Amino acid sequence: MTIKHIAILGSTGSIGVNTLDVIRAHPDRFKVSALTAGKQIDRLAQQCAEFKPAIAVVSDADGAARLEKLLRDQKISTQVLYGPQALVSAVTESGCDTVMAAIVGAAGLVPTLAAAKAGKRVLLANKEALVMSGNLFIQAMKQGGGELLPIDSEHNAIFQCLPAQFSKTPNPSLGVEELWLTASGGPFRSTPLEQLGGITPEQACAHPNWVMGRKISVDSATMMNKGLEVIEAFWLFGLPLEKIKVLIHPQSVVHSMVRYRDGSVIAQLGQPDMRTPIAYGLAWPERIDAGVAPLSLTQLAALSFNEPDLAHFPCLSLAFAAAKAGGTAPTVLNAANEIAVAAFLDEGMPYLRIPLVVEKVLNLMPVVNADSIECILEIDAQARKAARDFI
Ligand code: NAD
Ligand code: MG
Repeated sequence: MTIKHIAILGSTGSIGVNTLDVIRAHPDRFKVSALTAGKQIDRLAQQCAEFKPAIAVVSDADGAARLEKLLRDQKISTQVLYGPQALVSAVTESGCDTVMAAIVGAAGLVPTLAAAKAGKRVLLANKEALVMSGNLFIQAMKQGGGELLPIDSEHNAIFQCLPAQFSKTPNPSLGVEELWLTASGGPFRSTPLEQLGGITPEQACAHPNWVMGRKISVDSATMMNKGLEVIEAFWLFGLPLEKIKVLIHPQSVVHSMVRYRDGSVIAQLGQPDMRTPIAYGLAWPERIDAGVAPLSLTQLAALSFNEPDLAHFPCLSLAFAAAKAGGTAPTVLNAANEIAVAAFLDEGMPYLRIPLVVEKVLNLMPVVNADSIECILEIDAQARKAARDFI
């Protein structure tokens, strides 16, 4: 068995920690080449002590100095770097062949694109990168010639439900009619709209089924997450938008489905535990133990499915509109949402203002072609500024 060398962008986050949990159980298959974190220096130091990567990256010089000291005290020789360009070095200079892209938000775009261009196997959790730059990203993957494996549970499920030939040549004779993305509906699925005004960050981050980072937890509550995932599916699987459907499925057992022309619907089921898609991506096309308990169907009370109520989840309609508009509209949607969610989490902005900020910025900014990384980063910056000004 050849050993795979893994770089984890965002190793201290929820996906990063779950990835290391799977890697830890398979020392014969995986070696860690690079680990990166924003600000959680102590956790990163512990990870470096355990996995001994060639490179570790943090956001700034202060953090790097602290990490450097913690590692030298333990005689660990990992090279410590900092800043956005160092994230690219973690991908291109650590000797990795596989990159787990698990930084949250736009900050993950540039190193993930670098992984695509360099022909790495890209395990994509960072959906914001694909939403911002779908066309460029898919082109970069083709150019680099590496494999793109979705880690987002819905997209991983769809990948598993599609025929093996599909990802290489989407071909009408394969009979794929629709993709059905499931959504739990988050913690406020059945909370009346008039009670959402006073929602706190703690309430919004208490997801009923999944344990995740704070930004994606808020996105799940507003269902912006599912909107981003529709755009993600559009780029990953190359089907027209109208063939990508969303279903509310509160139990989060069916992770998504593919409907075929002949009447078949193929679903992937499992525990709501990200180690399943992570293990799938790491070992593909083989399957390995993910440390996840077996699913017991007889212990489930029921599985139910409903259409989402767009009036209850305005962020979902905004995402559909941005997807339809195309060009830079998804970039703007994502940027405005990142600013609005941060203002809700950190500055006490009311929860119900999140869709208002996104709508305002979408209306304000013209849609242009998203044809270069410079253009995308510029539009992203403008949309962030417009969102901040409005807040
Ligand atoms: P998280 O907040 O728990 O972790 C984010 C990681 O990114 C951390 O390691 C953090 O240090 C790093 N980071 C944050 N800002 C950074 C910056 N400016 N520069 C460098 N590093 C930075 O988030 P998460 O829940 O692990 O989610 C990560 C990504 O995976 C997101 O894009 C999310 O949408 C996606 N995702 C997560 C889950 C889940 O179950 N958690 C499921 C599907 C998709
Ligand atoms: Mg998901």
